[in-house]
Amino acid sequence: MSDTSISNESTDKAAEYLRLALAKLSQAKLPVNSVNYALTYFYVAGKDVALNKKLDDLYESWDDGEAQQLFKRFICQCSENEYQELREELLMTVAQILGSVIDLAGKAAISNSTLEGHMEQLAQCHNPKEILNIASEIIAETRHFVEESRGFESDLMESTQEISLLKDELDHARRMAATDALTGLHNRRGFDEALSEAIANNQRQNDYISLLIIDIDHFKKVNDNHGHLVGDKVLIGISKILQKQMRGRDYLSRFGGEEFAVILSQTPITGAFTVAESLRKVVEKLRLKHVKTGKQLEQVTISIGVASYRKGETMKEYIERCDNALYRAKSLGRNRTVIAD
Ligand code: GH3
Ligand code: MG
Ligand code: MG
Repeated sequence: MSDTSISNESTDKAAEYLRLALAKLSQAKLPVNSVNYALTYFYVAGKDVALNKKLDDLYESWDDGEAQQLFKRFICQCSENEYQELREELLMTVAQILGSVIDLAGKAAISNSTLEGHMEQLAQCHNPKEILNIASEIIAETRHFVEESRGFESDLMESTQEISLLKDELDHARRMAATDALTGLHNRRGFDEALSEAIANNQRQNDYISLLIIDIDHFKKVNDNHGHLVGDKVLIGISKILQKQMRGRDYLSRFGGEEFAVILSQTPITGAFTVAESLRKVVEKLRLKHVKTGKQLEQVTISIGVASYRKGETMKEYIERCDNALYRAKSLGRNRTVIAD
């Protein structure tokens, strides 16, 4: 006796056999009835070599009587009652498979009128042939949809990856556009954006902003005495020293050639003056040496202008006020901090 436990197949496998069986029946131009279906199901599932051999011949020239014989011999060597039971079991199996196919169709979001139509038909349907016909239509539609959505999914994945790469590149380019190549600090562009943002926040929150503009004293001499490359190294060194002193949201940038600017959020003028003085003293204490010759360079000092933002002032006016304080620090003899008027 052959293995007749159709319902023991895993649902996935059974669904595949169901599809194959329906395809085979349609290719052989045979009506889908329970005998033809059961035989063909067993055929595609390869359950019995002897049955398959017989069926190979039968598919060439179909005979319902012979099919009935094969069904009884290979699938149900059983009484009429048992045969009836098997019909019901078959119907149940188809219903089960349909359940998972309909589920899949639902997941695939085939909520179109065709599926709804099928569901209505199914609800009223009592005979296996009709159920199988409807099943084959739903399966075909589901497969078509799933294939299409798979293609769409992989296109979507590709586009998402491209978008994410472009976003990374854009972020990188944006960072680079706001970074100074020599020192790695924020550049003037970054500074302008940061200060303008701080001023905009200040209009809303009524908080303190302070600004330091720092200029290296007599920097031209460093270049003149040791060359531009050494001058560059000094600029890099001073940047690092200043960066080390930064805390929290302090925003240090290279403002120009040998000038730096620091935006201090939530810092009133007295605090800003203290910060400026500590930066000035740290630089003053530096003893720089020429890497190649080991010779000590002349002492480097900085002058600093400090200003706190005044409500209503434009960014340009604010920077100019701070710059004037720096100019005064220079004219008062350098290596000092001056608070803006
Ligand atoms: P002061 O005390 O009045 O500021 O004198 P100073 O010599 O520092 O000022 P000045 O404005 O006369 O000269 C600034 C010098 O800074 C001139 C310029 O060559 C140098 N400089 C600006 N940017 C760079 C740079 O990126 N690398 C080097 N090596 N030098 C620079
Ligand atoms: Mg200068
Ligand atoms: Mg200078």
